[in-house]
Amino acid sequence: MYDGILRQALPEGCTVVGFADDIALVTVAKTLEEAMGRCSLSIDTLMSWLADNGLSLADHKTEAVLISSRRIVEKATIRVGRQCKTVYRRCALRITSSFCTVSEEAALVIAGTIPIDLLAAERRTGCTGSRTQRSSTIEAWQRRWNSSSTGWWTHRLIPSLIPWLQRRHGQVDFYLTQIISGHGCYKDYLYRFKHEPNPCCDHCGTASIEDAEHAFFICPLYELRTERFLTVDNIINCMLENQRNWDAVANLAAGILKDLRRREQSRRNQQ
Ligand SMILES: [Zn+2]
Repeated sequence: MYDGILRQALPEGCTVVGFADDIALVTVAKTLEEAMGRCSLSIDTLMSWLADNGLSLADHKTEAVLISSRRIVEKATIRVGRQCKTVYRRCALRITSSFCTVSEEAALVIAGTIPIDLLAAERRTGCTGSRTQRSSTIEAWQRRWNSSSTGWWTHRLIPSLIPWLQRRHGQVDFYLTQIISGHGCYKDYLYRFKHEPNPCCDHCGTASIEDAEHAFFICPLYELRTERFLTVDNIINCMLENQRNWDAVANLAAGILKDLRRREQSRRNQQ
């Protein structure tokens, strides 16, 4: 489970090496400034991952070693324990009314909020907000989104960022976010956090795991409510077409998730 920290997408020249509960971040760069920048961004990413997985870094035990071929003595300043990305993630969770377990990658996409390190990189170019610069920032975000190790369900629904970010209508709410993030009142989700004894759909039996896909696109229980033409592959495009479609899906989401919540409560009352 903890090997995930070794697979985080880090800036160029950065690698994580782990042994037992120690990790080393190796950063290679041509200039000291570049090394400090890459190192700080990597630390933010690693600390976010640790926070997402209920872990933390012992800041006071962290050491940095600078290896350089230059003869003059150089000093590097590297901050460990910055809360910036964590706060940024929390803002995205609030904007989208997401469950707090939603990953940073998915929360930022659902909120349409550009990752803070990409914004910082854009700012360093001196062309913040210019159309060309913003396009290359979104392209970088898209590449990162495509290789993200978290948020796979959200990526299945929203594989392309541009149409989602450029829409002119539609706001996500508590219920829509539960479909798009996959974190919601589904038995599979509740089971993962030990709130249910099994992840199976009560209506369909042990062969069916009740997750977002099952509840919205498969379960016959909601077949009459769900429009049959809606699929995992077209639901977001359909919502992006016009406000009417968006509202229809939002109402559908609210109806199904309220029912799933009622079912959860009645299971609890029976226990
Ligand atoms: Zn079912």
